[in-house]
Amino acid sequence: MIPYGRQSIDETDIAAVEAVLRSDFLTQGPVVPNFEARLAELCQSQHAVAMNSATSALHVACLALGLGPGDWLWTSPITFVASANCARYCGAKVDFVDIDPQSFNLDPKALAQKLVTAAQKGTLPKVVVVVHMCGQPCDMAPIHQLSQQYGFRVIEDASHALGARYQGEPVGNGKYSDITVLSFHPVKIATSAEGGAALTQDPELAHTMTLLRSHGITRDPQRMATPPEGDWEYQQIMLGFNYRMTDVHAALGLSQLRRLESFLARRREWVRRYQVELADLPLELPTESPGCESSWHLYVVRLNPQMTSCSRAQLFSHMRQQGIGVNVHYMPVYRQPDYRAFGILAENFPHAENYYQRALSLPLYPDLTQEQQDAVVLALHEGLA
Ligand SMILES: *Cc1c(COP(=O)(O)O)cnc(C)c1O
Repeated sequence: MIPYGRQSIDETDIAAVEAVLRSDFLTQGPVVPNFEARLAELCQSQHAVAMNSATSALHVACLALGLGPGDWLWTSPITFVASANCARYCGAKVDFVDIDPQSFNLDPKALAQKLVTAAQKGTLPKVVVVVHMCGQPCDMAPIHQLSQQYGFRVIEDASHALGARYQGEPVGNGKYSDITVLSFHPVKIATSAEGGAALTQDPELAHTMTLLRSHGITRDPQRMATPPEGDWEYQQIMLGFNYRMTDVHAALGLSQLRRLESFLARRREWVRRYQVELADLPLELPTESPGCESSWHLYVVRLNPQMTSCSRAQLFSHMRQQGIGVNVHYMPVYRQPDYRAFGILAENFPHAENYYQRALSLPLYPDLTQEQQDAVVLALHEGLA
């Protein structure tokens, strides 16, 4: 089976991990700060806090922004469940904002409308999590403007978007948000096996997230509640977690960051080929929004129902039968059984529903070969004939 995504591991990655295994520290050593420094530099952010997953980073980011019981968090319905679950970890309530059908991202116009209603009802969100779906940056400028107007905080879930650019600047530079979260799961742009990070320009948010990542414990006397009795003393000053990244994982992540440009270039190359080879099929192909450079984490095509009677389910099973590991990203989060109790109505999200009926993710990853891509293209032509 040709998967929809997979990691690329070379000998330099293996050597980097091996070096840590032979060193003094498997965790809490020097490699995690090195990884964080490189990540911050790449994304032009002052601070990067590495964690054991993007899910942990989202949780900690929400807590650092003060999200708690009674608060609302809004996000896009077309995302991985973690973008919404982070609210529930904090005891907050979740609601969704419909997507823009062109970019698949949370639509700033729909957000503006929903804010007007929420302001009247007194249900304004404390945090909005935007998702750079497939690696395509959200239109951040109007979202930032709304955050100023209505007083909410913004988290960018950039799990798909390491290396993407908005208005010529790297996603993660925090120009239009408080915190940006990255994932280093194997299917994402670069991997640490499991891993995530939270980026911010705000030193206090960075400090709080660093505390929350490791039990809420500080060894800095300046930060302690009471003067320490001796150098042995550490103090827990808030309730935190063990969300630390290990040095083994950070070594893989750091090695992968050295390969980032080649990963992005390969993805762009495969995308260019898909755009040409699929142009005459009854499919709507993904586009790059004006001013945006996608990192092309996912290549999502949508069936055009005006031009074919083939359903997404039919095309999906045809492709799987041909050994092509197509996928669907994502079922709207409010459709998940664990979300049904919140009574969120699908009819309020016509663009997310329409997207979900028609979307199919095709294989896209750096180590895809031309022969494999040709097999994907051929199977699509046969399936849609
Ligand atoms: C993968 C992903 C996550 C979760 O990442 P983990 O590192 O696996 O926790 C969160 N949000 C989105 C949009 C993702 O694609």
